[in-house]
Amino acid sequence: MNNFTDKVVLITGAGSGLGRAAAVAVAAQGATLALVDISEQGLADTRTAVLEVAPEAKTVVLTADVSDEAQVEGYVTATVEAFGRIDGFFNNAGIEGKQNPTEQYASDEFARVLSINLNGVFFGMKHVLAVMKSQNSGHIVNTASVGGIRGIGNQSGYAAAKHGVVGLTRNSAVEYGEFGITINAVAPGAIWTPMVENSMKQLHAENPEKAAEQFIQTNPTKRYGKADEVAAVVAFLLSDAASYVNAQVIAIDGGQSQKY
Ligand code: NAD
Repeated sequence: MNNFTDKVVLITGAGSGLGRAAAVAVAAQGATLALVDISEQGLADTRTAVLEVAPEAKTVVLTADVSDEAQVEGYVTATVEAFGRIDGFFNNAGIEGKQNPTEQYASDEFARVLSINLNGVFFGMKHVLAVMKSQNSGHIVNTASVGGIRGIGNQSGYAAAKHGVVGLTRNSAVEYGEFGITINAVAPGAIWTPMVENSMKQLHAENPEKAAEQFIQTNPTKRYGKADEVAAVVAFLLSDAASYVNAQVIAIDGGQSQKY
């Protein structure tokens, strides 16, 4: 399967976890890649991982903070300058933030989480959609979360931002369908990445392994998802094979969000 020959895919949060796995997945199917992250080291490691599966892949790495609109405009312009177009956009960078019940949730932390997880997604769509509209084609996948469709607790900022990502996805999807553009969101559950590893340290600093084991017992599969299992769905949604899937929020969580 080579769904991404001559396709340019832009990925934020490409320096780790789900972003890196998606980069590898689409590169293996022939994609040209623009990789964005705030972490230079993360980007370098992802580039290495991409070249392992696709030695011929064309890539640019762009260091940017997605919460800063000027930097978002910068990574979009740099991608178009490098490759002339954007066919797929995985709008994925995000942070968890410090967990706390609402009354103790720091207001500056709330603002910080929203600035990256919500503003960053909005800025990304705003600037990429201008490019895709001029092409009359494109596929966007925003990273929401099960925390964007269900209450999890102790995550005011994360929940507000991820529910916001779901809203932005539906709103923009109905605006841009007529321009040959699809916009969907993925809502991952517990996927074993550095973010979830750190989350377990927040839950139980002395014994994060035990916290991790307990946490996953309520999942129907009794295991964490793998970044590759999200990347496969993202790659499908970014490809023309998913051309009539629009405005959807796809949970990738082993069924946990449907459990009573
Ligand atoms: P991760 O921490 O492994 O990767 C996140 C990447 O985003 C990192 O490389 C980080 O440097 C980058 N990043 C953070 N802030 C940034 C900024 N301001 N500008 C640019 N890049 C920035 O985490 P992950 O698990 O791969 O998470 C990716 C996305 O998936 C996030 O939006 C997260 O909320 C979402 N998500 C993850 C899970 C999960 O279980 N792992 C579940 C639901 C949703």
